[in-house]
Amino acid sequence: KSGFISIIGRPNVGKSTFLNRVIGQKIAIMSDKPQTTRNKVQGVLTQDSSQMIFIDTPGIHKPKHKLGDFMMKVAKNTLKEVDAILFMVNATEPIGAGDKMIMELLQDNKTPVFLIINKIDQIHPDEILAIIDSYKEEYDFAEIVPISALQGNNVDRLLSTIESYL
Ligand code: GDP
Ligand code: MG
Repeated sequence: KSGFISIIGRPNVGKSTFLNRVIGQKIAIMSDKPQTTRNKVQGVLTQDSSQMIFIDTPGIHKPKHKLGDFMMKVAKNTLKEVDAILFMVNATEPIGAGDKMIMELLQDNKTPVFLIINKIDQIHPDEILAIIDSYKEEYDFAEIVPISALQGNNVDRLLSTIESYL
């Protein structure tokens, strides 16, 4: 099994922290899946059972500007080509305009979208359900996985869940 995974989300939600934790090895890409120039490889996780190629999707992290519409189109097309999208949010912050913009961008996309609620080490466990409910009102996620990228909580379970979509 192998596939491309795009990690998206507002700045500072923990995307790089997650990648740094997950990418144990930097090896040549063995995947025979087609790759477009839109996909900037951030790291590859090779396990016995699967290979996950994490890519950056330019255009969604930037605020609106003159190239906004074009960038959004590029981002949208990129997100159609991946096998799974990880939409990462910060458990300690309410849903923001940036989050809503991304969820709007994801509407009509057939790629499975995971909601990754990161930084759960910073909140009380009782708060998680309310956070999940508030995001469920905005988008119909394929999976919802709370994690701590910093401490590693639930990261292995997230990886197995991703694997089941490849
Ligand atoms: P990015 O902009 O989405 O790539 O976010 P970064 O990975 O750079 O993380 C932004 C900040 O959040 C850094 O100070 C990280 O150490 C912190 N951070 C990331 N993940 C976690 C987490 O699970 N728990 C806590 N407490 N802090 C985190
Ligand atoms: Mg980063």
